[in-house]
Amino acid sequence: MAAHEARYRYRLRVNPAEAEALKGVFDSCRFVWNQALGRWSDLWRYEGIRLHLAGADKELTDWRSRFEWLAAQPSVPEQQVLRDLFASVSAFFDKQNPAGRPNFKKKRAGYATARWTKNGFKVGGTGHGSTGDRLCVATATGRIPLRVVWSRLLPSTPTSVTIYRDKGGRWWASFVVRVEVSEAPAVARGLSTGLDVGLTTFATVEDPEHDIENPRFARRAAKTLARSQRNTARKQKGSKNRAKAKQRQARVAATVTAQRADFHHKEARRLVATYDRIGVEDLRIKNLSKKGKGRHKVGLNRSIADAGWGQFRRSLQWQAEKAGKEVVVLPARDTTQKCSSCGEKANPRIELSDRVFRCRTCGLVLGRDRNAARNLNPDRIGTPVGGSEPAGVAAPVGDDGSKPKVPAETMAA
Ligand SMILES: [Zn+2]
Repeated sequence: MAAHEARYRYRLRVNPAEAEALKGVFDSCRFVWNQALGRWSDLWRYEGIRLHLAGADKELTDWRSRFEWLAAQPSVPEQQVLRDLFASVSAFFDKQNPAGRPNFKKKRAGYATARWTKNGFKVGGTGHGSTGDRLCVATATGRIPLRVVWSRLLPSTPTSVTIYRDKGGRWWASFVVRVEVSEAPAVARGLSTGLDVGLTTFATVEDPEHDIENPRFARRAAKTLARSQRNTARKQKGSKNRAKAKQRQARVAATVTAQRADFHHKEARRLVATYDRIGVEDLRIKNLSKKGKGRHKVGLNRSIADAGWGQFRRSLQWQAEKAGKEVVVLPARDTTQKCSSCGEKANPRIELSDRVFRCRTCGLVLGRDRNAARNLNPDRIGTPVGGSEPAGVAAPVGDDGSKPKVPAETMAA
């Protein structure tokens, strides 16, 4: 395994108090940059002395002892600023490829960035960027736990994080991580599939052998969670008991999150070991609970699934990247309504309560999700009649979406 450095960037949700704390750090960084740059250029111009990083570091200690407000700010980002400054200075002196002279930073110009290394930040919770994990950074008001929009998982423990505000006023966290790259990609098996997420089966692929069932812990976890929520709601507001119940609730939630993340990793790893290319639909989360029978059951299943699919997709993408496999994101278009053998659209439309796809044109009978999975296979798309497989009659899937009781060979004729 070789490793290289990569940047992983995420949106931050920052409240006014946190923004204030972060701005304090930005201000101190800007001050240190300008102060050090001024010192460096004075020494160079008037005394012909080159100030180096070690010297500037000593000056920083001196400034921190003189300015109380500066000392109140965390030292890690200030030290990082000096590193950046002297990197620019070196670039300026680089004879082969000289860069521009480092400039003073103006507050107006929106210099709003700071970098924390090892000792200055931590990703809490599961530590790899699962929903609910907070990014804690040192500020003048102590460590603040920031909410991160984890759009994908962190591949490893980050070595640093840069927090900045862009021109649009949006907040970002950019992590530096080491990414393991397998030199020899996982064994290519020549198999591809589409993947359809659903409520009855967590994910359906072409071969029922490789479907992902809803995790066993999920139902129990959803019930435990609901119970602890009700328990909290019953306690009087502001009471000690309520505070305790809330803590318990948070612990239950954290356990479920960790279990779920683990489940996603394992299943994603299993899928990329089997398939070289996996097609997924380009949608946030399917709105599955709109109509249909058994709303109560759907409601419970939905609560299990909601938090799951987005996270699972990110796991899948990451595992595929690592294994040298591919996740292909496809536009959501008629994946449920189209026959995966002959390409005809269903008429009448397939409703949510229809668990089986029956094609009037070619006679295909297939579980609804399986048909959708076949339509999402990137290697099947563009091949007019069902890819390399002959059109034919397949065994139906039970109404409850359970696996068929027939051997797999007869599934997709
Ligand atoms: Zn058909």
